[in-house]
Amino acid sequence: MEHVLVATKNKGKAIEFQQLFQKYGRKSKSLLDIDGNIPDIEETGETFEENAKIKAETISNLLQTTVLADDSGLIIDALNGSPGVFSARYAGENSTDQANIDKVMNEMIHIPENERSARFICVIAVAVPGKDTFFRTGVCEGRIAFKQSGANGFGYDPIFIPQDFERTMAELTSEEKNKISHRTNALNKLEKWISNQR
Ligand code: IMP
Repeated sequence: MEHVLVATKNKGKAIEFQQLFQKYGRKSKSLLDIDGNIPDIEETGETFEENAKIKAETISNLLQTTVLADDSGLIIDALNGSPGVFSARYAGENSTDQANIDKVMNEMIHIPENERSARFICVIAVAVPGKDTFFRTGVCEGRIAFKQSGANGFGYDPIFIPQDFERTMAELTSEEKNKISHRTNALNKLEKWISNQR
């Protein structure tokens, strides 16, 4: 297989997957690179696993090919795990990254430094026609900043400070983020599978 198909229309994710696959000498493409109408998939699951499975299997069945899908999000301890599986739509359906960030920052306004722990989670599902879908999970620990800064990355990167850093994820270079991200940590567990996709 020339390119591994990643079932996402999120440009930030698609770019990161391309960079990460390059590391393994492989190429990925996303739904943004495919001609034809790929319907938006409703994420009706209650867990990252369920949503990753829905995305991977729906596109795999539609195109009859191997598909990798990730479902990811931000877990904030002080907010009892929110925004969690609702990360992309925390401030409402079709909400912007900025609106989601604003909502989190408002909710965190009185939370002290030592109670701002959070983590990004990424669950990758791989759907292969005729086989059982399998999963790998990656985590990136950190904390929520007191103010937003940085313009790199996407989503909640401007308010997330990874462990061992004093900068937000959006102030890291893509090389720095790709060494530590939840997506990297999940993909690393697929290294063998990726190398075998010839
Ligand atoms: P999904 O497309 O349902 O998996 O939505 C994932 C959402 O989680 C994104 O829209 C972002 O808001 C957030 N997210 C996931 N990964 C990252 C990341 O690497 N940086 C910042 N936000 C992320």
